[in-house]
Formats: sequence, C-alpha cells, structure tokens
Amino acid sequence: MSDEKQVALVTGGNRGIGYELVKQLASSGFKVILTSRSSETGNKVTGELRELNMDVSFVLMDVDDPKSIEQAAAKVYEQHGRVDVLINNAGVYLDEHKHLLDMDPSVIEKTMKTNFFGPLYVMRSFIPLMEKRGYGRIINISSEYGEMRALSSQGVGAYKLSKFSLNGLTQLIAAEIKGDIKINAADPGWVSTDMGGPSAPRTPEETAKSILWLATIGPEGPNGKFFRDKKQIDW
Ligand code: NAP
Repeated sequence: MSDEKQVALVTGGNRGIGYELVKQLASSGFKVILTSRSSETGNKVTGELRELNMDVSFVLMDVDDPKSIEQAAAKVYEQHGRVDVLINNAGVYLDEHKHLLDMDPSVIEKTMKTNFFGPLYVMRSFIPLMEKRGYGRIINISSEYGEMRALSSQGVGAYKLSKFSLNGLTQLIAAEIKGDIKINAADPGWVSTDMGGPSAPRTPEETAKSILWLATIGPEGPNGKFFRDKKQIDW
C-alpha cells in the first residue's frame, strides 16, 4: 500500500453507531466519507467533525435508492479514486409487535429494502472500486436478530429476516470475491441509539471500538465470518 491515507466510507453516518464509526475511523487516521440520505443533516454533522480537525467529507447517499448509490460511487471515485474500507451501517427497525403474517407487507418490503437490498446495491457499486486496487475491507452491521437461532422464536420478523439475509449475502459475496478484499458481518450488541433506545447497556463508543478492528485486518484475516466483541460467532 502507498503512504496515502486510506479512505473509509460509512453509510448512515449522521447519527447513532454510524456517527461513532466515522469519528473513530477519522481519529485513527482514515480519510472518512460520511454518507447520509439527508444533505442538510449530513453537511451539518460533517461540518461539526471538521471543526474538530477530523478528515471527514460528506457524500449524499440514500441506500433505498440504487441511483443515489451509483451517483455516490461515481462522486467518490472522482474525488478520491479509492475506497479501502466500506461499512454498511444504515438500517431501520420498523417492526411493531406484530406477527409476520399480520404485518402490513410494506413493513417487510421497506425493512428488506434498507437492511438487505441497501448493502447489496452499495457493494455492487463500491466493490469495483476496491477491485481496481485489489484491496478492501467491508463490514456489514448485522444483529443477533440475524442469527439462525433467532428464527426459532416469534417476533421482530421483518428485522430478523433482513439481518439473516444480510448474513447470507455476506457469506456469498465473501466466497465470490477475489484479491485482498475481506467482507465480514458484525453484531454491535444492544446499543443506546435512537434505534436501541435509552435502556440499552452499550454506548456507541464501546460498540464502534468492538467493530473497527475488522477495518484493518491483514491479508490472512477472516473473510465471510460473523463477529461480536472481536469473537467469531455462529451464523
Ligand atoms: P439509528 O440510531 O436509528 O441510526 C440509523 C442510521 O441509518 C441513521 O443514520 C439513518 O439516517 C440511517 N438510515 C436509515 N435508512 C437509511 C437510508 N435509506 N439511507 C441512508 N441512511 C439510512 O440506528 P443505530 O442503532 O445506529 O443502528 C446502526 C446499525 O446497527 C443498523 O444497521 C442497525 O440495524 C444495527 N444494530 C443496532 C442495534 C442497536 O441496539 N442500536 C443492535 C443491533 C444492530 P437518518 O438519520 O436519515 O434516518
């Protein structure tokens, strides 16, 4: 690798776990691209981080919209010519204590769109940039709700399906990928964000620390695996 700074991109970087991932990546020497579906919020948060002397820039990206993802990839290629680390963090939790069959199917569709198809389209657009340089580290933010064993109990069906599918996607793409590109999934635990709520025991800071080692693993590091707190876990 050259001496140039590595470039990391985080989806849904404007708040919650994504925001903390952006901060910690910038603090550890990455040039970070914060992406958000709102240019107002994204620019505001990026401006605040830049005032703290962090090397962060903003690119608009709505992961529900393949066109927006393609435009973001084109912009990143034009501005930076590379992406070394990609974190698929953006996600939604739309379940409302209903059985899957009683749920309005649009809830399942919307959840799959953001949590599964979002990362799929993002990887389709950004992996070619990684392949050009033969290097990349991808982290898909999953959940314990995506574990196989979570499927044998009722509840949270749309979200569980979306993260289970994301786990499957992680393994399948890892098996296809060539060169020194690693793709792994991470469970952040239960974290106090807007999604996790105020009773969650973990802070975004602790969680980001427990995930970011995957951004700098070496060529012999894991590929197509699932981690919680730096330990490999079963799918
Ligand atoms: P959060 O506080 O609700 O933040 C979600 C982020 O995703 C926001 O930045 C949001 O942007 C963004 N987002 C949602 N839909 C998007 C879209 N279509 N395009 C672009 N960005 C979009 O959630 P969080 O707790 O930080 O969760 C981050 C990730 O961790 C998610 O994948 C979640 O499933 C996973 N996770 C969280 C927990 C937990 O306990 N918190 C546990 C397990 C897994 P806006 O501000 O525009 O809405």
